[in-house]
Amino acid sequence: MAKQAAKNYAVIGLGLFGGSICKTLVKRGQEVLAIDSNETVIDDYAPLVTQAVIADATDEIAMKNLALGQFDHVFICIGQNMQASIMATLIMKELGAKNVICKAESPLHARVLKKVGADQVIQPEVDMGRRVAERILEPNILHYLMLNKDVSLSDVRLENKQLVGQTLRQLALNDRYQVTVIAISHQDQVHVSPSPDTELMLDDRLTVVGKATAVDKFNQIAS
Ligand code: ADP
Repeated sequence: MAKQAAKNYAVIGLGLFGGSICKTLVKRGQEVLAIDSNETVIDDYAPLVTQAVIADATDEIAMKNLALGQFDHVFICIGQNMQASIMATLIMKELGAKNVICKAESPLHARVLKKVGADQVIQPEVDMGRRVAERILEPNILHYLMLNKDVSLSDVRLENKQLVGQTLRQLALNDRYQVTVIAISHQDQVHVSPSPDTELMLDDRLTVVGKATAVDKFNQIAS
């Protein structure tokens, strides 16, 4: 019998995307509960993760019994079956999961997931396409650097219009997202150790440092 997972990370749906999340978390020493409705898939992941369970994510009682509401981070990586992905998201939020991160297959799917309570929605092809284009356009920019196994430094481009026009003090990024802005690049100018009164502008590049999970989360919010 596998040892009980610390209530930290659950990954539901172990296709290419969910599987990659699962393997990355395990490589980084995290305890992971992996769930999929397909027995063959679970057989492949059982040796890797803390606990692997065959279950239907739309089965509310099964999800409650697995204590998914107590997990800090739940990844819902069901793409093709949109109905299941939406229902599972709703169930996780109703059970009380703090941070529910979902994969969407289309912009409409993403909107529905947000409406039912997803904390973060990822569209892998769209997000990856943007990153690839950015790397080609700006090859000199540092995108991500792990300072140790937990802490990373990253450039985050500000594309979220809701954050534009606010000062660093108003945004309180340290308190809200546990990231520290160490530099802001605006067009060709780089402001190191920016003052709290610095107002952020669209397309500014923020160099932030923090726990990798916090930096990733802030990246999602800023873009
Ligand atoms: P990818 O494009 O990342 O490969 P898929 O949508 O093809 O994603 O794969 C999703 C995974 O989610 C599959 O392994 C599938 O068995 C699983 N899955 C689909 N529906 C459910 C469900 N209701 N509950 C749990 N797992 C599911």
